[in-house]
Amino acid sequence: VDTSDEIGDVAHTINTMAEKLERVEQERHHLEQVRNDFLANVSHELRTPLTAMQGFLEALQDGLVEDEEARQKYYAVMYTETMQVNRLVDDLMDLMKLENNEVNLAKFPVDVAEIMNKVAFSFRAEAEEKGLALVVDVENDLPKIYADRDRVAQILKNFVKNAVKFTEHGEIRLSAAAEEQYIKIQVADTGMGISQDDIHRIWERFFKVDRGRSKNNKGTGLGLAIVKELVERHEGKWKVESEPGVGSTFTVWLPTMGFYRQST
Ligand code: ADP
Repeated sequence: VDTSDEIGDVAHTINTMAEKLERVEQERHHLEQVRNDFLANVSHELRTPLTAMQGFLEALQDGLVEDEEARQKYYAVMYTETMQVNRLVDDLMDLMKLENNEVNLAKFPVDVAEIMNKVAFSFRAEAEEKGLALVVDVENDLPKIYADRDRVAQILKNFVKNAVKFTEHGEIRLSAAAEEQYIKIQVADTGMGISQDDIHRIWERFFKVDRGRSKNNKGTGLGLAIVKELVERHEGKWKVESEPGVGSTFTVWLPTMGFYRQST
């Protein structure tokens, strides 16, 4: 028996184990970091509206707001801030459930044109108030997609809400066309756009471009993270193209009935 061989084997085993332990430790450290970042983000997003409300409440309580008109304004702002907290909690719960696979999608054959027209209708007044045209451009006789109607509407609403928010001039175009076994759905705007540095991060939860500049951005930073989850749950694909100062185009491809017929 060659003992030096055995010692070599033992040393090798110990080394492998040490390397494994180190990888586990790194992974644990990474997960802890993700968790801490997440909690810091939630706290920040909650604290902003809560701090504002606290300030307004204190002013009211101290009798600092004397005329009725100003008082009504304070109430209105506090109401908006309350809504913001509610929206954040709703989005968070939705995202958590989607990520934990706790959401059952009610998939049926659905007509994209119908959903698109409804969503466009619900945003038309808001867009026109900003002087923006809202155009719907749907190919004739589109095949139906196999999807959860409310969730498809949610995807579109998130895109259109952002398009209206980040666009000052021009138009927002909603379009749908058949492409292979998918329906390609696009929301294109002529807004501020997104820089190359930021564009790959916008699907992350809580990510907002330039927090300082978008102080008026009442979003939760969760909309696109939810969209991504929903598209994945529909076995679809997503993409964004953008040029700062020119505009952005968000695209998702959702499978048609044919997609499922072919793959079974
Ligand atoms: P939010 O609630 O802030 O809108 P989202 O997840 O929907 O969160 O979007 C994340 C960020 O991506 C936004 O804060 C914004 O910076 C950027 N973004 C999304 N859509 C657009 C758009 N159409 N034009 C420019 N920037 C956009």
